[in-house]
Amino acid sequence: MKTVHILGAGLGGLVAAINLARAGYDVLVIESAKGIGGIRGFHPSLHVTPMDLDFVNAYTGLDIAGNVKKLDQPLRVGLWEDEYLFGKNRLPMKTPLYGVERGTKETSMDYFLYSRAKALGVKFLFSTFIKKAGDLPPGSIIATGLHPEMYKDLEIPHRKIEGFSFCVQADKENEKDIHVCMGDFATDYYYSVAFNGLYYGLLFQRNPMEYKCLVELEKMLSSKAEKVHKWVPFTCCGPTKSFRQPQLFRKGKIMGGSMAGVGDPVLCFGIHGALLSGQTAALAVMDPQKARQEFSLLTHYYRRAWIIAQISNQVPTKTRRRVYRFVRYRVPGLLARYGYYLHPFTDMVDKGIPGYWKGYFSPYIVPHEKEKKRAALFDKALEAIARLCPGKNAAEELEALKKRYITQNAKHLETI
Ligand SMILES: Cc1cc2nc3c(=O)[nH]c(=O)nc-3n(C[C@H](O)[C@H](O)[C@H](O)COP(=O)(O)OP(=O)(O)OC[C@H]3O[C@@H](n4cnc5c(N)ncnc54)[C@H](O)[C@@H]3O)c2cc1C
Repeated sequence: MKTVHILGAGLGGLVAAINLARAGYDVLVIESAKGIGGIRGFHPSLHVTPMDLDFVNAYTGLDIAGNVKKLDQPLRVGLWEDEYLFGKNRLPMKTPLYGVERGTKETSMDYFLYSRAKALGVKFLFSTFIKKAGDLPPGSIIATGLHPEMYKDLEIPHRKIEGFSFCVQADKENEKDIHVCMGDFATDYYYSVAFNGLYYGLLFQRNPMEYKCLVELEKMLSSKAEKVHKWVPFTCCGPTKSFRQPQLFRKGKIMGGSMAGVGDPVLCFGIHGALLSGQTAALAVMDPQKARQEFSLLTHYYRRAWIIAQISNQVPTKTRRRVYRFVRYRVPGLLARYGYYLHPFTDMVDKGIPGYWKGYFSPYIVPHEKEKKRAALFDKALEAIARLCPGKNAAEELEALKKRYITQNAKHLETI
């Protein structure tokens, strides 16, 4: 059987390799780093994501439950001077968040996927940096994540992402909550989390980041008595610059993971899409037509979320602060009563994570007691509009796809 070349031994690349090897293909994974571990210079790192675990398992055919950490500690969300606590007897936490460790440690997702791929006979070529996609045979899978080279070579519009991170040994104090905050320091956000014996923090934004952003963040952290660690700067890029994403095929190659654009354009959750898209990329080798259909279902809502992200990214942090303060202090009553009518927008944000349709934001937006009847009519009107729009069956088709995979694969997961 012919050899399939996969560029990049990250999440998307490894899931594709495992599924192709299972289908009987010879697989060669080419990786620029000396070994596994994903994004160069970033690991070890701890990523947080909403995850539809049953579907990810069924779709990828891998039982990853033992390699993700269900994060049941409270979630502390900071918006400028305010903080909101979710979980553990505070505001209920409605969406389970999962932690995924990246890097070379045995507890990392990379290690788990690499071990499975090795056991299935996948070959690896490390320390090999490929600059031109054309150096690989047609039909190869490109899954090079957030690195710039392949975006440039394949002319995929991309945008720089810059930031600072730290990773240290965790102590009990660090494990008490997940901290996410937005402030004047960045147009995106800062998060920190601890699990698997590590404590990790990351500040990033999809605009150039100056050192003074970090100084601002440090000021905020020390005002909350949070210890500051040694920061490491990073630069990478994401394919969120153009409306023309996501795409499964490009210039005779198959795209996997972030290269396919299967990341959430609003809050930048990339793990969920990268895992699923590894399977879609493998399917594209075996049955391009079927892969195309599944890919378009998984990424059906991407463009709507992308529009929200574009608008939000253009707003300077100072303007955001003013809007937040106005809403928080001047119109809280109006927001509490009529906030539910914003849910078509929050829904767009939720559905930006490819293949995740449970909603991580909308479940918090429930109608006010006095608005329940009107809100029900509002929902009916929205449904009627949705029925008139193209792609009206997408939600049901997505659900059917999910059920089909869960029924087909769930029983076999343990034995695969
Ligand atoms: C610092 C940081 C924090 C993040 N935090 C989160 C988070 O909390 N939650 C979340 O959901 N997402 C997060 N993301 C996004 C998420 O990590 C990515 O979307 C996801 O890892 C993409 O997976 P992938 O398979 O596309 O690529 P990766 O897992 O990055 O793998 C790409 C691989 O390709 C290799 N490679 C690259 N270029 C070449 C080349 N030219 N030749 C050979 N090999 C090459 C790389 O070395 C790497 O091993 C974060 C990203 C970063 C950078």
